[in-house]
Amino acid sequence: MTEFLSKSFYDTYLACRERDWGEALAAASGADVEQALRRVHLSFSDFLALLSPAAEAHLESMAQKARALTLRYFGRTIQLYAPIYVSDYCENSCLYCSFSSRNRRKRKKLSLEEIDREAAFIAGTGLQHILLLTGESKKESPVGYLRDCVNVLRRHFSSVAIEVYPLSEEDYAGLVAEGVDGLTLYQETYDESLYRVLHPAGPKRNFRYRLEAPERGAAARMRQVNIGALLGLADWRREILMVGLHARYLQDRFPEVEIGASVPRLRPFAGAFQGSCEVGDRNIVQAILALRLFLPRLGIALSTREDSCFRDSLIPLGITRMSAGSCTSVGGYTVPDEAEDAFAQFEIADSRSIPEMMARLREKGYDPVLKDWIFGL
Ligand code: SF4
Repeated sequence: MTEFLSKSFYDTYLACRERDWGEALAAASGADVEQALRRVHLSFSDFLALLSPAAEAHLESMAQKARALTLRYFGRTIQLYAPIYVSDYCENSCLYCSFSSRNRRKRKKLSLEEIDREAAFIAGTGLQHILLLTGESKKESPVGYLRDCVNVLRRHFSSVAIEVYPLSEEDYAGLVAEGVDGLTLYQETYDESLYRVLHPAGPKRNFRYRLEAPERGAAARMRQVNIGALLGLADWRREILMVGLHARYLQDRFPEVEIGASVPRLRPFAGAFQGSCEVGDRNIVQAILALRLFLPRLGIALSTREDSCFRDSLIPLGITRMSAGSCTSVGGYTVPDEAEDAFAQFEIADSRSIPEMMARLREKGYDPVLKDWIFGL
């Protein structure tokens, strides 16, 4: 693995990009998978074997080991969080997203009073972890606005994470000083050529600036950094390979930071784009199991993009965080009618409320965690 350590993850990425991962994945055998399953510390080659088509015949053995590892490192706990969308203005035109600037819809940005109202509503459910999201517009949602939002949210929540446009290390540090403790930033796809096609305009076209943002956030002393790829845009095996490599890089370079990953799948949205790569339920299962076996301490988050039945089945396999009671439109918690009139970033498949989600977790023998962090204590 040390061969991959370098100045920035982009250097690692460049070194890896030249390799033919498709061929390596196809060449992995059942014996390679069995060898990976016997190891305590997995190499990158082991991880590759677990993501290969050959590993599909070993999902049950992988699940048993993943379950045991998750229990050892995280116990029977699942942290719950909710997203709060405060602005859907966006300068980018990602082909797979409703918020694309090409989508000529009325935009909305919440005032601090409206954010306070939304926050009070969410906090009323008992939830104490909030994820602040905006469309990516530095003009409409400048860092000063983000700072003001954080100050409002801190009145209601013990943990505030952000999922906004990539920032400089200095700006991340400023937000950490205001009370932000977590950063989520998905690369969308680790295929740089495809990335250019999917992001035809706007600042998001800068692949490298986005790729290096998680390490800038970690260097700025974020407590938790979460990465991921949007599955369905490119071959999922290669994407998860890169997610695992990126997460390992971050864990090695920032051992004090809790590194997490997500496996979001493309969902229906207000646009015509269809992903070119099918990702089935078994593929998602394999991706989660491989990540857990390769990186036992990795947090793995699962959003409401997946339906309730599937989400429940994934809980014992390695999941550590789940969103619940989510709304993906601006102001949608307190003004749902208006939210319908506006538009959501993507369709939600699991609409269970927080109490329903908590009850289900308890039925499955898990402890829902609403609060495990208090800023500044
Ligand atoms: S994915 Fe993000 S950056 Fe792209 S259009 Fe949607 S909100 Fe904007």
